[in-house]
Amino acid sequence: MPQSGIQTHRRRDTSSGLNYFYRMQFLRKIGHIFRGWTKAMGARLGFRSLEDKEKKLSDLRLQLCGRCKYAAHKKVLEFINGDDVWVNALFCTKCKCPCLEKSLVAEEKCPMGYW
Ligand code: SF4
Repeated sequence: MPQSGIQTHRRRDTSSGLNYFYRMQFLRKIGHIFRGWTKAMGARLGFRSLEDKEKKLSDLRLQLCGRCKYAAHKKVLEFINGDDVWVNALFCTKCKCPCLEKSLVAEEKCPMGYW
């Protein structure tokens, strides 16, 4: 009980819980982006080969993305066999992710629920 006679109202701060939730989601997303890019880059440069189940899952997802109305092609610079090459890459216009890299992360989900 406050001694000064001024009543204090303690409100439960729900925003900090939400902030924590969004922060964790953001960090998880960053982790997925990092994993997707390192897998794709490693496979492209020959540092790492994709496992069969990773490749199958990615192929299935990419087939769906390829037919999706939210997918769009963009030119991106890639390093293939030591050369820098502009290639047409498939991007999702809903989540702005590159479809190949996104498809390589098992925990990733399509924002429209297609996969
Ligand atoms: S992730 Fe989903 S919404 Fe985005 S392009 Fe692929 S299938 Fe379409």
